Amino acid sequence: MKLQALHIPRGLRGQGLGEAQAYDITLDDGRVASVEPARDSHVRGTLISCPVDAHVHIDKNYTVRDVGPANGNLFAAIGRMEEKRALWSVEHFAQRMERAAQQAWRCGTRALRTHLDWPRPEAPRSLLAFEQLRERWRGRLELQFVSLTPLDVFADAEAGGRIARAVRQSGGVLGAFVYRNEGLVHKLGRVFDLAQEHGLALDFHVDEGLDADATGLRAIAQLTIARGSSGPRVVCGHACSLSVQPAAQAQDTLALCASAGIHLVALPTTNLYLQGAWDATPVPRGITRLREAAAAGLRPALATDNVQDAFYPYGSYDLLETFGLGVQMAHLAPAGDWLDAVTTHPAAALGLSWDGRIAPGCPADLVVLAATDEYELLDPEGRARTVIRAGRVLQQQDKEQAP
Ligand SMILES: [Zn+2]
Repeated sequence: MKLQALHIPRGLRGQGLGEAQAYDITLDDGRVASVEPARDSHVRGTLISCPVDAHVHIDKNYTVRDVGPANGNLFAAIGRMEEKRALWSVEHFAQRMERAAQQAWRCGTRALRTHLDWPRPEAPRSLLAFEQLRERWRGRLELQFVSLTPLDVFADAEAGGRIARAVRQSGGVLGAFVYRNEGLVHKLGRVFDLAQEHGLALDFHVDEGLDADATGLRAIAQLTIARGSSGPRVVCGHACSLSVQPAAQAQDTLALCASAGIHLVALPTTNLYLQGAWDATPVPRGITRLREAAAAGLRPALATDNVQDAFYPYGSYDLLETFGLGVQMAHLAPAGDWLDAVTTHPAAALGLSWDGRIAPGCPADLVVLAATDEYELLDPEGRARTVIRAGRVLQQQDKEQAP
């Protein structure tokens, strides 16, 4: 297959592609065979590697009709979910997870990392549904999971050990919900110990609120630095409080994150909706300092987070929708330069085997967007896309039959 006169954003170009305005690309046997400067300089679209969604919650999606939206109150949402979760069967989880995977796949997503609520030492029912889903989608959609446990649970060494063992057995990532906890550094230290002991990567929900004294991100960066090169790969999601801290303090934390090699993930939909006062139009936006993070040397990602649940009652698994919202709300310009935040940056955060850069030899898992320049990227017509998986255009019947 040949693709002609497509713009490839700079951050997505593999080595040696140079500075052409557009490229002609040949695909062969499921891979990119060649990438050459286009003969016709009239740009016909934008080529990106398939997006990677670094942070979702497919164990609670589509439940807002049952649970109700917790307008602006994260902890109310957590409480309501807690009551309902016990009533959900494996089949109930499985149906909702499958719906998410189908939509992500149709939209071109190649990998998806979900958090699974894991409030007690025993593995949640959702894990079985997830493992079946991961098996069904193997080779099409790479699925990863993170255990999402309140940090305080790790104060109990036995409980923490049980969780870490189960996560390792199921091939997952260890996680925790961190927000202004008592003895925060000590408890985080336990989580790092468990990760090292069991060879697990880490992924935190950290500082998801607008209290300026929520400084979990800083503590995680310091711990990561202290553990050195033998420490785990660390992803931090949310970091909302960074947006309301004094600029100098935030910069200092981001510099620590950069030297720690932390992967920062922002979740615009949920945090724009959930954070901020609900008695009037909120001025605080809830989204973390993405431009400052990039300036400090981090490679931040944008991800979907909640879809139609108590935390965020709207949304979908079209990561390019989230990208568009992030561009507008966090002033990410030029937008074309930020496509990294849904492709190469999350690929690094998830430790994927392909970094998402397009070059001869890379997988032909690509998305052609109709947008001919960055100004059309947020336009519904510009965002119209052709999804290519393993060198074949994903046709409507593939979509219906998948997996
Ligand atoms: Zn989340």
